[in-house]
Amino acid sequence: MPIQSAEAIILRHLDYGEADRIVTFLTPEHGVKKGFARSARNSRKRFGAALEPYASVRMHWRARGGELLTLREAELLDLRAGLRADLAALALAAYGCELTEELFWEAHGHREVFTLLAAYLDHLASAGGEASARLLLELRLLNLAGYVPHLLHCSECNVTLTPGGAAFAAGRGGSLCRSCAGSGPARTVALGTLGSLARSLLTPPTAFAGFRFSPQTLGEGSALLAEALRLHLHRPLRTLAFLNEVLPPPAA
Ligand SMILES: [Zn+2]
Repeated sequence: MPIQSAEAIILRHLDYGEADRIVTFLTPEHGVKKGFARSARNSRKRFGAALEPYASVRMHWRARGGELLTLREAELLDLRAGLRADLAALALAAYGCELTEELFWEAHGHREVFTLLAAYLDHLASAGGEASARLLLELRLLNLAGYVPHLLHCSECNVTLTPGGAAFAAGRGGSLCRSCAGSGPARTVALGTLGSLARSLLTPPTAFAGFRFSPQTLGEGSALLAEALRLHLHRPLRTLAFLNEVLPPPAA
């Protein structure tokens, strides 16, 4: 089997046995991959710090027939050391990596997802942790997965929503007008929140700096994106409890 290589973001790792490590990483061309790094913890020569979560690396591996690759070498491109200085940034990084893995583990390669996650981690490493980065990542990942809910039109009758009459229910497709909302469970939501989310989808997916969401948009937006994500995730995310402790979701 020839050695293959690709740029990669380390999503997580698991210590195995005395000195080995199992590493999960994301590549633009091959999607989420898992590899076995023999002696990663005592031989610093081949891997060094390059298997640390959230680092960007050039990964070299050999396929060995099963799901688990044999990792040969990893060249560190960017450790994103700034993440380690800010607990909220670290919690957001862990959450973003787990969310990406959960939504895209079956995809064979998705360059936009790779670019989005790299930009999100770069932003956290340089600007620190803040709630708007989470909102933007969730919205854009839902969009790339094809799961973004209806925002500015009623998902049941397609009417354009008007101020004072908007509601939302992820399980019914997203936004709802006043008359459709009454026929089942739905939460009320400000039209301004839906407008902010819709406009955010028009911004470059790698832009995270300079967003100024109102407390209402952050609160309502976080709640409705959480509802939309729960529909598509097969299990609760491990990293969510820690994130909610370090950076509690804004009140809706
Ligand atoms: Zn309607």
